[in-house]
Amino acid sequence: MLKPIVSPQEAAKLKKIFDESKNVVILCHTSPDGDAIGSSLGLYEYLKRKGKNVNVIAPNYFPDFLHWMKDADKVILFDRHKAQSYTLLKTADLICCLDFNDLSRLDEMGTAVSRMHCRRVLIDHHLNPDKSKFTFIISRPELSSTCELVFRLIDALGDVKSLSFAAAEDLYAGMATDTGFFTFNSNNPDLFVIISELLRKGIDKDAINRKIQNNYSADRLKFIGYVLYEKLEIFPDLHASLFAIRKEELAQFHYVKGDMEGIVNMPLQIKGHKLSIALREDTEKPLIRVSTRSVDDFPCNLLCEQFFNGGGHKNAAGGTLECSMDEAIAIVHKALETWKDTLMSADGEKSKEEAS
Ligand code: 5GP
Ligand code: MN
Repeated sequence: MLKPIVSPQEAAKLKKIFDESKNVVILCHTSPDGDAIGSSLGLYEYLKRKGKNVNVIAPNYFPDFLHWMKDADKVILFDRHKAQSYTLLKTADLICCLDFNDLSRLDEMGTAVSRMHCRRVLIDHHLNPDKSKFTFIISRPELSSTCELVFRLIDALGDVKSLSFAAAEDLYAGMATDTGFFTFNSNNPDLFVIISELLRKGIDKDAINRKIQNNYSADRLKFIGYVLYEKLEIFPDLHASLFAIRKEELAQFHYVKGDMEGIVNMPLQIKGHKLSIALREDTEKPLIRVSTRSVDDFPCNLLCEQFFNGGGHKNAAGGTLECSMDEAIAIVHKALETWKDTLMSADGEKSKEEAS
């Protein structure tokens, strides 16, 4: 029923790789999000059912609101369990890389992975995968999420019937979080065909949405109020905004990983707004994390490649800066100046004019 996006040859190759592997390690990107953990645990469930010895390694901690997933407690955190991670990587005959396009997104673990001689399969939806680093690549930037891609691969292998309830929950979670709960990147009708298939597996999508979205501390709610009231700088002519949060401010609101989730989207609620940029001092490393969100055609990925040592998707991208917060803010101003013309043109008004 789904429009096929995997050729029979690709499906056959993937099947052969899975059939020939016994010890599989699944990896996702640093600071894993719902799609990274959902797709990793979804594939983990699938391969376990196929009788494989499977482990998921994440470069570092993932937010509390993803810990409800079955076997989330079995995900090995590389930064806390390096010896165990190295042993698993060395003994793996297959490494599956999910939801990232370049080994640099694994931070320190990337160097370790690049030295391993086993097969490396990339399953991802980011643009421009680093082709030199993988044995086999299934990259579909047009899809909403890596979770959607994993479902479609399982479908192409003829195994949706045997997909477990837990895998259905995991894959739903990633599709929901990577589309802002179906508010962007989610117009493909097939996405809803997949969701109806997952609902048939018995998942309670409303409960999953609540588990992810309503799982914060009171401090986080107050933090949002603080950011929007005290910190948000709006550039009305540019239809853009910036907020920059320092470590001391995070401490004031007892910040835990995940507390920044979604706040960068909020300025896009302003009528005609095109671009939201957030800067946050990392709590562990001396660097600034950059998050950007846009609507329509404004290319956050290009902006992040040009100015913030990063990349991502057209409407959601990020990066890092190794400098002081004041310097980072100056870089944002330079970026806004560079993209001024694109930002100043008001698409909404233009299309209204065109229509009349
Ligand atoms: P977030 O703003 O939620 O941290 O990240 C949004 C998206 O931007 C991610 O899904 C990922 O595609 C991309 N991204 C975030 N940080 C980086 C980075 O440091 N490097 C690259 N290449 N992409 C990033
Ligand atoms: Mn993703």
